[in-house]
Amino acid sequence: MSSRRSGSLASLREGNRRLVIEALRERGVASRAELARATELSRSTISTIVGDLIDAGLAVERDGQPDGEASHAGRPGVMVALDPSAGLALAIDFGHRHLRVAVSDLSHTVLAERWRDLDVDASAREGLAEASNFVDEVLTEADVDRGQVIGAVMGLPAPINRLTGTVWDSSILPGWVGIDAAAEASTRLNLPVTVENDANLGALAELTWGAAKGRSEVAYLKVASGVGGGLISGGRLSHGVGGTAGEIGHTIVVHDGPVCRCGNHGCLEALASARAVANLLSISRREQVSTRRMLELSDSGDAATRRLIGDAGRALGIAVANLCNIVNPETVVIGGDMALAGDVLLDPVREVVQRNAIPSAAADTEIVAGVLGERAEMLGALALVMHESERFAAPGLREAA
Ligand SMILES: [Zn+2]
Repeated sequence: MSSRRSGSLASLREGNRRLVIEALRERGVASRAELARATELSRSTISTIVGDLIDAGLAVERDGQPDGEASHAGRPGVMVALDPSAGLALAIDFGHRHLRVAVSDLSHTVLAERWRDLDVDASAREGLAEASNFVDEVLTEADVDRGQVIGAVMGLPAPINRLTGTVWDSSILPGWVGIDAAAEASTRLNLPVTVENDANLGALAELTWGAAKGRSEVAYLKVASGVGGGLISGGRLSHGVGGTAGEIGHTIVVHDGPVCRCGNHGCLEALASARAVANLLSISRREQVSTRRMLELSDSGDAATRRLIGDAGRALGIAVANLCNIVNPETVVIGGDMALAGDVLLDPVREVVQRNAIPSAAADTEIVAGVLGERAEMLGALALVMHESERFAAPGLREAA
């Protein structure tokens, strides 16, 4: 065999190995059949590569049920995962009103997690200091070493400049103006930190584990204290040229409507966010109404609350109808606190989309609530560490790949 030929065979083998490792990082746990489907390699090639990875201590077998495969007389299948000791992923999720931090192994198992209310808009330094404390706490609780962390992703509820890792729009996250969030967090944590928009992370989580699993054309709307959006095309996040693709919260749905924190009038966020609806409810009830209280009132059948949530659903419907005309998604996932109102919110969205989108754009589009709830963005941050395998590969895995 010529050296050129053996060289190309070796690189083919390396390429196949890399595909299998990437598929395992994205899925956490998978059967050999799932790996064959995901990589389009033959079952025998998968068996050889998985055997090599197990021999090298980079992968392990475990019992489990493969997705979408009928169990054989209830017998659990043999699944494959990357060896948990091969590395850890860190997630730092900032909402406008909360901070959540978690550490997971490479099989996507969350080892420890912390959450607290926090006025994130007010001060980046305070937020980052608190995140740094939480990271120390989760690493201690999980009894793992910082050196095992292969990457950290930090979600922020604002448009993110992909090149600089800074917040684009000062009015949306005022306390973070001029802060190089990625650099600041990397220094404080002594780890490489990537910054990503929170709704993009929610989209990735619902795609990997939730309501959009197995889909490839997905729009995700995070409807919480703000309204954000993430777009998945061909199974990958769409960022746009500068990183702000999917900012549906600041599209105009009512001409000359209520003023928004971005300075415009009639933005979707000013009409449909949990903050906007709770504010209206506070006025009509002459008492301060929190998002949680609003959802309780809706569950108990309070007519005024349900009407206001329905109005928010119709505003969302206009934005989603326009979105369907533009990107023709298979699935629109509505996440964030407001999605906990269920069909009180979603039915008006569906009605307006059916009425206003061109029929061919929305005929095959399902509109569903997110299933990962308030942990979606944090889980998405963990998923992104796995997805960005090239950048984050641990030394052992980098050599193997
Ligand atoms: Zn706005």
